[in-house]
Amino acid sequence: VPPSRDRLRIAIQKSGRLAEPARTLLASCGLHWRESRDRLFCYGETLPVDLLLVRDDDIPGLIADGVCDLGVVGRNVLAEQQAAQVADGREPVFREWLPLGFGGCRLALAVPEDWGWQGPAQLSGKRIATSYPSLLARWLADEGVSADVVMLSGSVEIAPRLGQADAICDLVSSGATLAANQLKPVATLCESEAVLAGPVAGFDAVRGELAALLMRRLDGALRIRH
Ligand code: ATP
Ligand code: ZN
Repeated sequence: VPPSRDRLRIAIQKSGRLAEPARTLLASCGLHWRESRDRLFCYGETLPVDLLLVRDDDIPGLIADGVCDLGVVGRNVLAEQQAAQVADGREPVFREWLPLGFGGCRLALAVPEDWGWQGPAQLSGKRIATSYPSLLARWLADEGVSADVVMLSGSVEIAPRLGQADAICDLVSSGATLAANQLKPVATLCESEAVLAGPVAGFDAVRGELAALLMRRLDGALRIRH
């Protein structure tokens, strides 16, 4: 068990699609920080709420280990790591606390444009490339389809052209990347946006009150935006 702290620590993406909107949203809750020289840690000056700047994939694990209390991460990343824990027979230790209304996208199954799509059964015996193996495996199991999941950490959309896979399961927002690779989306596995993630179990008193204050301010900031 990590030593208890009297400051709240929030993990956000260091650089990438969620980095800037996450900071802007937290700043609109009245949080301001002093950045460390290595720019990985931001010390909260207006409230005892600090930021840790990390890769988005690391955020659920940092919460699970108690290194961070909360995180801003795509539901897609959170759901994948939850699904992996469940598939391993473990209890999920983090959960979604609040949807944040930015970073919208969906995890979609896409097949070559020239396939006449007849439904999931068509994927039987095919190879599907993805960076989301647990969510894909769960969806295939739900559909009763047996297919080969090919795990790729990047450049998933070119896998069919390279002959590595027959279909893909990847994040889509406009669909332009799929179209550029002669692929079309045929099913949605997860509707995603950035979310505030936190532990399933709550916090001790001091951090619990800080987290509750932050949640109230986030609620207010999100209401003004929409
Ligand atoms: P990191 O270096 O932190 O691992 P990354 O390359 O995994 O960065 P980004 O590409 O910045 O991450 O995407 C972060 C999140 O943005 C995604 O997990 C997803 O929730 C969201 N997102 C929104 N639209 C898209 C999109 N079109 N493609 C990919 N991610 C998107
Ligand atoms: Zn990532």
